[in-house]
Order: sequence, then structure tokens, then C-alpha cells
Amino acid sequence: MSELAPGILRIPTRGDGENCFLVADEDGLTLVDVGWKSAPTAIRQAIESTGRTLADVRRIVITHAHPDHVRGLAEVAARSDAEVLIHELEASWLAAGRVPRSGRSGAFGRAVDRLPLLHWQPVAATRTVVDGARIGALRVIHTPGHSPGHIVLLHEPSKALLVGDAVFNRGGLSSGQDALAADPVVRDASYAFMPRDVTAVGFAHGAPLVGDAVTSLNAWLDR
Ligand SMILES: [Zn+2]
Ligand SMILES: [Zn+2]
Repeated sequence: MSELAPGILRIPTRGDGENCFLVADEDGLTLVDVGWKSAPTAIRQAIESTGRTLADVRRIVITHAHPDHVRGLAEVAARSDAEVLIHELEASWLAAGRVPRSGRSGAFGRAVDRLPLLHWQPVAATRTVVDGARIGALRVIHTPGHSPGHIVLLHEPSKALLVGDAVFNRGGLSSGQDALAADPVVRDASYAFMPRDVTAVGFAHGAPLVGDAVTSLNAWLDR
């Protein structure tokens, strides 16, 4: 666990490469993404190390309904009684417990979605959001393409950006595998919507960028 920016903790949920984020809001904690099925234990331990408990989590925001972000969701939601928020285009995926056929542009992506390991316990979203919505200190920016309802979240007090799977930072910046994305062309067009004047970048997959290093993301987005 480490501080991404004032008010935001990064919680690694599998090794040090897969992350969710915990935002301190005035009325409690906001969790951004969950992770695989083992993630709830890492999340609980991280929250308890700050002197709080899962019961302090008021909201769970899901950047998109892919299994590596939501397999642990039902457990955290049940233990915290938190609201569950997701973009309106993906509430039906969350409730179905798997990615639909139309959710992957490539045969490889559709094949892996048949594996039970990539299905999850269905969750009914408490609230759906759209572009521009505010969730505590976070502002929602709709960045479709990786999935139709993918969102990135700008923490307005610190100007830290949580990018979900819009960009990966594994062995360098990348947009991930096209076969696993719903629409790679739409995804690439969405990079225009991502803010450039940020102070830190938190990735669901990979190490964060802080300080001057954030300019490498801007250069990559504008390449
Ligand atoms: Zn994804
Ligand atoms: Zn992911």
C-alpha cells in the first residue's frame, strides 16, 4: 500500500502489479475497483492498517465490468454495505456476472470469457453514472472502447487520475490487447478525453506515475 496523492491510497491486490485505489472522502471511503476473488483480503488488511474498517467504505466505483476488477466485488459490497456505482452502459454486465459476446472485439477475448474463472457473482449496481458525474471528490470521465462503459476518474482536489484499463503500465505504456477490448478504434479516440494537467496517474495494471513522470503519459496519449 502506498500514497498515490494526498487522499488516495494505492492498494496492490495481486503481487505489486494489479491495483485498486482508496479515496478518503468527507463522509467515508470510496473504493475504486476491487480485483480478483482474493482482493477483498488485501483490501480489508490495507483499510485496517489505516485504523478504519470495511464498514467505513461508503462507495465502490467500478471503472468497468471486467473480471479482474469485479470478481471480489460481491464480497466487499456485502461486508461494507457500500453503494456500488458503474457507468450506465455496464450495469447489465455487472448484473449478468460475465462479459457479453459483444464486449470483446476478438475471438480470443470471446473464448476466454467462456471460462468460469472469468465469471463473477452478479451484483446489482446501486447507482449508475455518466460522463461528468461527481462521486465524492472524483469526477467521472467516460472513455469507452476498452469496454463500452469504461470510465476514468479525476480526483479533483489533487488532480490525480485513475485510469482503470484505459492505459496499462506493464513494461511500458500500452492500450492492452485489442482482442480483449470491445472496440479498439473507439478506445484510441477516447484518449482525447483524458485530462493532461494531472499530478499523478494510478493504473489498474502497473506502477503509478508521479511528479515529472506523468508527462510520459501525456506524450503517449498524444503520440
Ligand atoms: Zn479491462
Ligand atoms: Zn483490468
